[in-house]
Amino acid sequence: MTAKPRPSFPARLDRTPGPAPARGGAMQPVPASRPAAAKPVVRQQPHGLGLDSHAVRQAMVNKLAAQGVSDVRVLSAMGTIERHRFVDSALVNQAYEDTSLPIGLGQTISKPGVVSRMAELLLNGRPDKLGRVLEIGTGCGYQAAVLSLLASEVYSIERLRGLHDKARENLRPLRLPNVHLLFGDGMAGFAKGAPYAAIIAAAGGEAVPQAWIDQLAMGGRLVAPVASSTGGQQALMVIDKTPQGLRQTVLEAVHFVPLKSGIA
Ligand code: SAH
Repeated sequence: MTAKPRPSFPARLDRTPGPAPARGGAMQPVPASRPAAAKPVVRQQPHGLGLDSHAVRQAMVNKLAAQGVSDVRVLSAMGTIERHRFVDSALVNQAYEDTSLPIGLGQTISKPGVVSRMAELLLNGRPDKLGRVLEIGTGCGYQAAVLSLLASEVYSIERLRGLHDKARENLRPLRLPNVHLLFGDGMAGFAKGAPYAAIIAAAGGEAVPQAWIDQLAMGGRLVAPVASSTGGQQALMVIDKTPQGLRQTVLEAVHFVPLKSGIA
């Protein structure tokens, strides 16, 4: 056989064969702003949304912008990562609605509005891309993929083996060499990758674990949903680690799955 084997993963609807990100050396930003022209795809895979996936995604991005997401890097990343590839085929038609959707094992993929809001908070208007980022709660891997376009390295931890495996499968076709999936209890963070320029939690506890604060770089920022000890209402919390100490800001109410300890 002389013909090059085609990759066995689902046909990608609108990724042009751009330059492969450099391995080992400096990270090459994936050209997130690439105009993802819909290419005719002959073999439609179960996860396909048809040829309109780009247009539907762009409509989602326009809505995010109308809701106030203004960082063009975030909007571009949201327009690049195909959310429909991260949900069950029965839910593909809802993939670009601003809603969380079940991903199995009682967990959910976060709403695009929340993913983009948190990403924007992490970037904090800084001109450069983020350095190393730690994500707690990989779930299906969607947010990790979005973050991979905004950061040099993404370490993402999941405590449920089934979802860790699912994320690995979902992300494989995207070939994002800067995403590192870890199976374990994210309450302890991941010390080996520390210090992190940013830490983001996709699950909410009653407090931010000390390990996350310890693993945050000086000048770094943590964004996490935190539940009040009374009543369990969650709010988005931003913690900046500054030479003067921790600066904590509580933002809008959110609704995330609970942060749990241990693995399963
Ligand atoms: N980031 C995902 C959201 C997943 S939902 C997305 O892109 O949509 C949150 C995830 O956090 C769940 O999969 C849940 O199992 C996980 N989680 C909860 N507590 C955790 C912990 N202590 N360590 C790691 N993952 C945790």
